[in-house]
Formats: sequence, structure tokens, C-alpha cells
Amino acid sequence: MIETPTQFDDSKPIVVLVDDCPSIHRLLSARLKSEQIELACFEDGREAIEYAKSQSPSLFILDIEMPEIDGYEMLRVIKDESSLRDVPIIMLSGLSNAEDKVAAFDLGANDYVTKPFDLAELRARIRAALRLHSMVQMLAQRAQVDGLTGLWNRAYFDDQWKAATARVNRHGGPLSLAMFDIDHFKSINDTYGHPAGDAVLESFAKLISRTIRQTDLACRFGGEEFAIIMPETSPTEATAVCERVRAQLEAARWPRHPEKNVTVSIGIAGSSTPIAIQTDQWLNQADEQLYAAKRAGRNRLSIVDLADSFGPRLADAG
Ligand code: GH3
Ligand code: MG
Ligand code: MG
Ligand code: MG
Repeated sequence: MIETPTQFDDSKPIVVLVDDCPSIHRLLSARLKSEQIELACFEDGREAIEYAKSQSPSLFILDIEMPEIDGYEMLRVIKDESSLRDVPIIMLSGLSNAEDKVAAFDLGANDYVTKPFDLAELRARIRAALRLHSMVQMLAQRAQVDGLTGLWNRAYFDDQWKAATARVNRHGGPLSLAMFDIDHFKSINDTYGHPAGDAVLESFAKLISRTIRQTDLACRFGGEEFAIIMPETSPTEATAVCERVRAQLEAARWPRHPEKNVTVSIGIAGSSTPIAIQTDQWLNQADEQLYAAKRAGRNRLSIVDLADSFGPRLADAG
């Protein structure tokens, strides 16, 4: 069973209804009560968009004819907003011409229901749209998770590492990056077979997940290499966590090869203070430490405190 690192949100999906007619709000609020949804009603499109940006809704239901922003304009705004683009949209309109429907579908609507509407049918269409949304979310999440280990994958690491260094550049604060490479892993594959190698990778991923803090982010960097982004963590604190991982792996016994233990080499690059360093440079520094650990004999850590070699940011210098 693969453990994914993501927390699934089991709260009710939010459905945003935008209609200038309050009686529609009352009608749907009453008649959708039994559905497992949170209905948020708006008369004004701008307010609805602001709300949606912060609340991550699972569905929009949009009227077309509205005095301020009409339904077509709402469609454009939603499709322009990256955080809302994948939220399905049902149009709920008095306009029943084919041209109106075509225009709405061309602007990205997923469904179109004409007023007056049958409530049972609308409920069914809402459920169908919510199923679509959870499918899209699941696929998006899968694209970020490594299939073998259940850790975050390289693409997700790249995004998060960029975000972590950008945050530190803006707000300061400690940050450490640890890179792991399993020692002589090729010989495990060669001696005991590829499935035994896979079992080592899976168990190592579990060991990392058990050991790190909730704010740390563990990724499979590629092959038998792993990375942990450790926000708010000094190089010294990162060293303590990584040493626990190293020692536990060394002590682990393996059902498929009880006579052979597995070890890992670790490179850590971190800083407790804001420093003048690029995202990639920081990653290279951790990688250099990893290779220093390999050269020094493997099954060990090598650490650099970047504050020593990369001066403070110019803005912070007195
Ligand atoms: P070093 O101590 O220098 O790191 O030696 P190493 O043998 O670990 O390094 P090398 O880069 O030579 O070998 C890495 C091996 O990892 C080669 C590759 O076949 C294997 N590998 C990569 N991905 C997987 C995987 O998903 N499953 C298994 N079983 N093996 C993998
Ligand atoms: Mg209207
Ligand atoms: Mg390697
Ligand atoms: Mg290796």
C-alpha cells in the first residue's frame, strides 16, 4: 500500500452560486440542503470571484443575465484565473437559444440548464460536475506523486524548492536542503534482484516520512536519490534529523537479504540567515556535500552552512 503525502480534505465541497435574483438563492439553498455540499450564494460576480480565490470551490453555478458582470464575463474571469480554471461550471439561465448555449460552452462552461429547471435534474447535474472535479483533482495530485514510494516527485520538488527559496529571499528565516543517495545501490539490484532494490526504496521512503517533521517535504529526486526540503530549519537542526535517518537505515534488517545492510550518504546545505544565493546554486551546494560524503567513505553526512560562504544579502548588509 503506497502512502501518499497529501492530506485529503474530507470537508464538504463548496458550490458557488452567482445569480442576481435572491429567490433563486433561497430556492437552491432549501432544495440542495440534503446534498453533501456547502452552497455559497452571491448576487455580485466580483464578490463571488474574491470569495472563490480564497476558498477553492468545487463548482460554479452561474446565471447569465446579471446587471454588473454577466455570466459570459464571469466565464472569462474564471478561465483567466489559474487557481479557478479547472473548477467546473454549470450555467443556469433563462436564455434558451442555441446561440446562447453555444457561446457559454465555447467560453468554457461544462453544462447548461435553462430556467425554469427541474430540481431533480439539476441535483444530478451538480453531482456529475462534482465527480468531474474530484477526478481532475485526483489526476493533478497523482502527477505530483512518485508511484513507487508515494513521496512527492521531482516535478513537485522543483516547484516547492523554488517557492521555499523565494520565501526565504522575501522574509528571511532558516532553510535547509538535504540530499540522500543510497550507497552501492546498484549492487543490491545486481545481487538480490530489482524487486529487492524496489523494496529498499519503498522502506527508505517510509523511514524518511516517519522521521521528518510535518512541515518538511520529502521527495524522490530520481532513482535512488531523495531530497528533503526543511523550512525553518538551521543546518544544525537538519543534521540531527538526517543523522537519525542515516543511523536507522544502517541498523535496519532486510528480510530479503538479512546478511546485507543498506546505507545512505547525505549532503546538507542550509542557512539560518538570509543569504545571497540562487535557487539552483543552493541545490548544487547540497549536491556537492553529497559527493563529499561519498568520497569520504559513504554512510555519512557532509554539511555546509551557506551563511559562512555566501555573504548576507546586500539589502541586509549594514
Ligand atoms: P553510489 O554508492 O556511488 O551511489 O553507487 P550506486 O550503485 O548507488 O550508484 P549508481 O548511480 O551506479 O546506481 C544507481 C542504481 O539505481 C542504478 C539503477 O539501475 C538503480 N535504480 C534507479 N531507479 C531504480 C528503481 O526504481 N528501482 C530499482 N530497483 N533500481 C533503481
Ligand atoms: Mg439574472
Ligand atoms: Mg545516485
Ligand atoms: Mg547511489
